[in-house]
Amino acid sequence: MRPRDLNRYLEDGGWDSSPVPPDLLPKAGAAAAVSEAPAGTLTALAATSQECTLCRLRDGRKNVVFGEGDPGAKLMFIGEGPGAEEDRTGRPFVGQAGQILDGMIFAIGLERREVYITNIVKCRPPGNRDPKDDEVAACAAYLDRQIELIQPEVLVALGKPASHRLTGTTKPISALRGRWSTYQGIPLMPVFHPAYMLRTPSAKRETWEDLKMILKRLESSED
Ligand code: URA
Repeated sequence: MRPRDLNRYLEDGGWDSSPVPPDLLPKAGAAAAVSEAPAGTLTALAATSQECTLCRLRDGRKNVVFGEGDPGAKLMFIGEGPGAEEDRTGRPFVGQAGQILDGMIFAIGLERREVYITNIVKCRPPGNRDPKDDEVAACAAYLDRQIELIQPEVLVALGKPASHRLTGTTKPISALRGRWSTYQGIPLMPVFHPAYMLRTPSAKRETWEDLKMILKRLESSED
C-alpha cells in the first residue's frame, strides 16, 4: 500500500478552514478553472469546489461534498450525489447507505480511511432526485481531476447514474455490474448502489461476487 497519511485532509469536513488560493477560484462559470488547476493538489481542488457555482445545485446546498479518504488510495468509490445527511455534514456516504458502503469496504478487508469516496456531483440534488445530465457535466472536471490526482488502481461506480457517467452507456445497472471496463485507463467496476441493497438485501449476494473481483484485481496490482 502507498502511504496513507500524506494528507489527511477534510477528515472532519472542516471546509471553513481550507484556504482558497485565488488562482483556483472558478471564474465566471468556467469549468476550465478546474482542469487547469496547476499542479493542483486535492486539497486545493477541494477548496475550489467550495466556491463552485457551475450549476443550479449551488442554490440548495448547505455544504459541497467534495469527497474524502486517502489521497493515495488504491480503491476509489464513486456514488451519485450527496443526500440530506451528506449535505448537512459535508461528508460523502454518512447516512444509511453509507453504513452499507462501510460494510462493503470492511468485507474486502479495508477500512474507510484507506479508500477514497466521492460522487459524480458534489452538491445535493433536491429531494434526492438523480442528478441531471447538465449537472453531471458541470461537475465532470472535478471528478476527472480527483481521479487524475489520486490515480487509484480500481474505480467502483456505485449505482446507475455513476455507472452511466463512467461507462458512457445507458445500459441497466444489472447489465453493467460485475463487468470490467476502464475509465481514464483505470479498471472500472460498476456495482449496485448501497441504497438499493438497503431496499433489496438479496442484491448483496451479487455485490459480494463483484467485490471479490475487485479484491482480486487489487491483489494482482500488488504483485
Ligand atoms: N448516496 C450517494 O450516492 N452518495 C452519497 O454521498 C450518499 C448517498
